[in-house]
Amino acid sequence: TMNLATEQRIALISVHGDPAIEIGKEEAGGQNVYVRHVGEALAELGWQVDMFTRKVNVKQKDIVEHSPNCRTIRLKAGNVDFVPRDYIFGHLPEFVDNFLKFQKDNGIIYSLIHTNYWLSSWVGMQLKQKQGSNLVHTYHSLGAVKYNTVKTVPLIASTRLGVEKQILETAQTIVATSPQEQEHMRSLVSKKGNIDIIPCGTDIERFGCVDRKAARAELGIPSETKLVLYVGRFDQRKGIETLVRAVGQSKLLGTEDFKLIICGGSRPGHSDGKERDRIEKIVAELGITQMTEFPGRVSQKDLPFYYGAADVCVVPSHYEPFGLVAIEAMASFTPVVASDVGGLQFTVVNEETGLLAPPQDVPAFANAIARILMDALWAEELGQAARKRVEKKFSWDGVAMQLSELYKSLSQQSVEQPSLEQPMVANS
Ligand code: UDP
Repeated sequence: TMNLATEQRIALISVHGDPAIEIGKEEAGGQNVYVRHVGEALAELGWQVDMFTRKVNVKQKDIVEHSPNCRTIRLKAGNVDFVPRDYIFGHLPEFVDNFLKFQKDNGIIYSLIHTNYWLSSWVGMQLKQKQGSNLVHTYHSLGAVKYNTVKTVPLIASTRLGVEKQILETAQTIVATSPQEQEHMRSLVSKKGNIDIIPCGTDIERFGCVDRKAARAELGIPSETKLVLYVGRFDQRKGIETLVRAVGQSKLLGTEDFKLIICGGSRPGHSDGKERDRIEKIVAELGITQMTEFPGRVSQKDLPFYYGAADVCVVPSHYEPFGLVAIEAMASFTPVVASDVGGLQFTVVNEETGLLAPPQDVPAFANAIARILMDALWAEELGQAARKRVEKKFSWDGVAMQLSELYKSLSQQSVEQPSLEQPMVANS
């Protein structure tokens, strides 16, 4: 319907978030989902979409075709092995070289590039400088906010903060996924630069396709059980500790058939495995091991059953730039109890689609969860309102449409001459 010419080509760059892999593991979460869905939805709208990421395993294919107009391309940058994101920066010049080589070998020059996370923005700025590409950037996480919520700041912090300022002032457009994220950019990063708000989306056909009864039958959960759900990575920043402590002191314990399910992948010895061990230890100390389940990583295909079966989904993050899990639960007619931070303040409407509680406030979370569990009728209303909000604001198709309009407006402007400013140097 769009009638785009074949030169409507776009490169989505996601150096550490491979859009083609299974998600829910360490370092694989919302960004992978975002890039993959945006890519596929843009292809449906007629764009030629190439998604570039770093190859982390020799067994991985260099190119994965998702649909005729959408593929993932894996480039070598450093050893072909997993590298935590805080240690990737020094390998980025090689990523740029291999990107340029791919262009040359295939006779392509991407005049439009959408980068994801600060690492990719550095790559994008090099390409803008070398070949004048138009740049769009989504942060997914802001160092300036994140570093306020962690105890130890990594070595790469000052580099990251510098790059995050530079991309805000350099990109044609920054995509903020919530008004809260835009506000953080302005107050903590820079007053300069052009910001548009286009939220993240979710698959509204997948999430919400099973009703509570069918979902519970599938998972073998009795209808009278009070089911509290967490979905996400094992990372301290996600605040799982707050949730288990809230459940541990709930006044409903003992009086109701109560169940807590914590979904998310982890690998022994890695940071997510360590966080899971830590959480399991707290669960044991609280004496709630019997009622707590850790099914591990759950595929996107199976997640609708978990969201559908739950009475409440809890997102207790210390910081959350957007938080896909909240809108996945909401699309599944499930009320959300979330931390009153970042994008969650945008997606969850307090007292209408769920409840917001101060981050790390155990009694507040316990109280919010109990309020929803004790009032099934109200919970039903919250769930209905949640679904409506997602349909209206957060479908991938709607989101991709807004991005497509943005890209079209940029490609109608003439491609800029390579800028003379020197970008920051990797490895310095
Ligand atoms: N996820 C999943 N399986 C799991 C745990 C998480 O598929 O076992 C997905 C989840 O459905 C969501 C994403 O991982 O789409 C997490 O995104 P979010 O924005 O909530 O958090 P992030 O990981 O980006 O911090």
